[in-house]
Amino acid sequence: MKKQILVLGSVNADHVLRVNQFPRPGETVTGSQYSIVGGGKGANQAVACARLGGQTRFMACVGVDAFGGQIIRQLDDDGIDTGCVEQIEGVNTGVALIFVDDNAENCIGIAGEANHYLNATFVERHQQVIKTADYLLMQLETPEDGLLEAATLAIQHDTTVVLNPTPGKPLSEALLACIDIITPNQTEAEVLTGVKVEDPESAAHAASVLHGRGIATVVITMGSQGAFISRLQDDDTVTEMVSAFHVAAVDTTAAGDTFNGGLLVALTEGMDMVAATRFANGCGALAVKRHGAQTSIPTRAEADDFVANVSGSPVVSLSR
Ligand code: ADP
Repeated sequence: MKKQILVLGSVNADHVLRVNQFPRPGETVTGSQYSIVGGGKGANQAVACARLGGQTRFMACVGVDAFGGQIIRQLDDDGIDTGCVEQIEGVNTGVALIFVDDNAENCIGIAGEANHYLNATFVERHQQVIKTADYLLMQLETPEDGLLEAATLAIQHDTTVVLNPTPGKPLSEALLACIDIITPNQTEAEVLTGVKVEDPESAAHAASVLHGRGIATVVITMGSQGAFISRLQDDDTVTEMVSAFHVAAVDTTAAGDTFNGGLLVALTEGMDMVAATRFANGCGALAVKRHGAQTSIPTRAEADDFVANVSGSPVVSLSR
């Protein structure tokens, strides 16, 4: 039987408008190419897991509004079990209002709305799906008491807890103590450890701080450099740098979400951490070759073809 991934996290309706220049205070600008697309780190990572071939369940809260119903149908179409995605009466689906200017810079305002309801009480009501999952994947866009409740239930039932700590913010010791695998990018690693991550040496330093806080496996994603792995094994720390695939990047939105989806799917299929990270690098590289968030997430066939036929992503063992 396929291993089960449970993604717990946010859903947003991303309202995107292209403008020549961002409006100044009091100014109105005319935009073009208005679109409403599915977003939120939780939804993006659930889509990545499912599209890349993982048996995926999603736990989330949306509003009783048109977008809430539509996103559930889209997630269903991507093959995700949405039995734990609830429409909450009297609130809106989470929203991100995004201006994109001529230089591809963006300017974003977000409101959590229904995402605020993904709290400890909600998680407790759905505890059965946490107990039966093999992996729990979470981010930091929903209330911390819900994350802590889910992580606590997970460790009681041998469900591996993976935290992608985005957006970067300090974490409670209680939550840190429940995490098996943490997957920050360079900025998030610095927020969590105070160590500026620029290269494998500084990544090793940041990872050692996270090991010191009780996390056995640290995977730091480093954009076009690839990903750095540090694992506590017996009394040793084993570190590897898995280089990125070389691609012409056009839009790095959702690179991290796609990487995390690829990593989880590979781990559920029994790949070791290095092979799983290499596969995840391939998935992340494909995402940066395309525009958009959920639109840029590749299928499993595309990822397999890319990883098998494009050279790159060598692994360098740094220590044993
Ligand atoms: P985030 O999107 O969370 O900031 P990163 O920028 O570290 O995360 O990207 C996540 C992963 O996506 C990287 O570890 C790498 O595998 C892949 N990736 C990102 N940018 C590039 C790039 N320019 N070229 C190739 N792969 C990339």
